[in-house]
Amino acid sequence: MKDTFKHKGLRQQLVQVVKAKGITNNSVLEAIGKIPRHLFMDSSFLDHAYQDKAFPIAADQTISQPYTVAFQTELMQIKRGDKVLEIGTGSGYQTAVLCELGAKVYSIERQQELFKKTSKFLPKLGYRAKKLIFGDGYKGMVEEAPFKSIIVTAGAPFVPKPLLAQLDIGGRLVIPVGDTVQTMTLFVRKGPKAFEKTEFGEFRFVPLLEDKN
Ligand code: SAH
Repeated sequence: MKDTFKHKGLRQQLVQVVKAKGITNNSVLEAIGKIPRHLFMDSSFLDHAYQDKAFPIAADQTISQPYTVAFQTELMQIKRGDKVLEIGTGSGYQTAVLCELGAKVYSIERQQELFKKTSKFLPKLGYRAKKLIFGDGYKGMVEEAPFKSIIVTAGAPFVPKPLLAQLDIGGRLVIPVGDTVQTMTLFVRKGPKAFEKTEFGEFRFVPLLEDKN
């Protein structure tokens, strides 16, 4: 596992690209500038690690595009110490961004292979999520609720009710909703039964799979 000056230089260029696309949150930009994204990818894609693109990881899944990671993270408005839930651990890159921001991270992955690989890998880089579990993100993590924010990193055909129910009052759910194309959607919990919904642009994610195998 090597992180060279070349990688560091490419990473700073990536930060500029993401910034030029409209990301302004400095902590998010710093996290992207710090995390060795190439180490989260399969060797065949190493040369592409600092392009602003999604790439295949194991189990037919993808590591999200850095701009998308930054966009979603910015919407979460994380403060240090916030308890946050991630659905779709995948490569762990987004998990690492959340850790860099000082969040207490809980994350769920439904592909056994990725779950095992990423659970071993993240601590090697010094990223310690509070809990990584193998399970179904549609259910959230009821035993750890409520969360200050929840991020879904796969395309959801609909908004799972348990995720809304597991938000703190004032909490934020960032979720791409749709089948082939998704609309980035933010729900802010205003009260026990009141949610404010805001829609942003279109994104493309691998699907949030329903519990079947
Ligand atoms: N955050 C990841 C993105 C991975 S892609 C990263 O930065 O690499 C989306 C991930 O969601 C995949 O790993 C996929 O296996 C996972 N996923 C799909 N459906 C799921 C579900 N129902 N519950 C939990 N994870 C799910």
